Amino acid sequence: MRAAIVSPGKANSMRVADVPAPEPPPDECLVRVLEVGICGTDRDIDAGHYGEGPAGSEYLIDGHESLGEVVEGPRHKGELVVAMVRRPCRERCIACRTGQVDFCRSGNYEERGIRRRHGFLAEYYAESPEYLIHVPRALRKFGVLLEPMSVSQKALRQVYAIQRRMPWEPKRMLITGAGSVGTLAACIARLKGLEVVIYSRGAGRGADEMIRRKIGATYVSADDHKLSDIGLFDIALDATGFSPLAWGAAEVLDVNGVLCMLSVTGGKKRIDIASDALNDKFVLGNRLLFGSVNAAREDFENGVRDFAALEQRWPGMMEHFITRRLPLAEIRKALDERPPDDLKTIIELG
Ligand SMILES: [Zn+2]
Ligand SMILES: [Zn+2]
Repeated sequence: MRAAIVSPGKANSMRVADVPAPEPPPDECLVRVLEVGICGTDRDIDAGHYGEGPAGSEYLIDGHESLGEVVEGPRHKGELVVAMVRRPCRERCIACRTGQVDFCRSGNYEERGIRRRHGFLAEYYAESPEYLIHVPRALRKFGVLLEPMSVSQKALRQVYAIQRRMPWEPKRMLITGAGSVGTLAACIARLKGLEVVIYSRGAGRGADEMIRRKIGATYVSADDHKLSDIGLFDIALDATGFSPLAWGAAEVLDVNGVLCMLSVTGGKKRIDIASDALNDKFVLGNRLLFGSVNAAREDFENGVRDFAALEQRWPGMMEHFITRRLPLAEIRKALDERPPDDLKTIIELG
């Protein structure tokens, strides 16, 4: 079958190749891939920053944001599914043992399309039903967004779980970063009735702007306004991939507020912070900062629920998240040429 593969660690090695098709055991499903979303992780893997093939394999099949259709196995034929990404560590740490691999303690978890397991950017993949999420047909046009949606879902689920530490009625939420994870988080927050401000540098003027207008989220450009000029927030979520802005968000938390860091920045940036003032802000105002990565099954399922709610409230809006559709043969174009207004590029395989 055809697949997009990389030679892990080798820059710009992503290419289309013929690889053996999976042969699932009877307790697994064979899934025909319809679409795969591309994000910064795929670009980092292509750049050789990370990515690791399965033991004994010289290549890694890329792709972790999938939408597919069951062809055979212990689920209904034709059922639309999205596969979860992480798999438990060999050590079977307490988190992996209890089905919360997104909280893996050992760090030796595996991730499809990223680390030690082939991904979904291929004509087919095999997977245990345990890791497949059912997607209703009505969500076919944007179901491929479920994996990034699950990341935003987990972040917000954690926020509300953690804040049970007090009586709390959040009203204002800040989202730094106007990419797909930030914009999906804005959609979830609007469903919760929060006032949402998206603060970002040079956000797109295309689909993302249309979505912000539709859901009633305010956009503030980092080029025109300082973060400190737009008030205080009960919840802040950073999805910029730019660490100085993530720390800047800590400065605009209201009393009892919570900041979630949600983007990986890599790099070696350093900034000066007013450490005493920030310390006192956190102590005297019960403020809280935490990080969130990956997602649990529950977050995928909540994502499906909210996709249905979003489609009902703003019919036809969600499919505009997908700003570019390319065939597998154009995987290099998908990685190398990113239009300024790109919110989500997907590769179509079907
Ligand atoms: Zn991704
Ligand atoms: Zn583990």
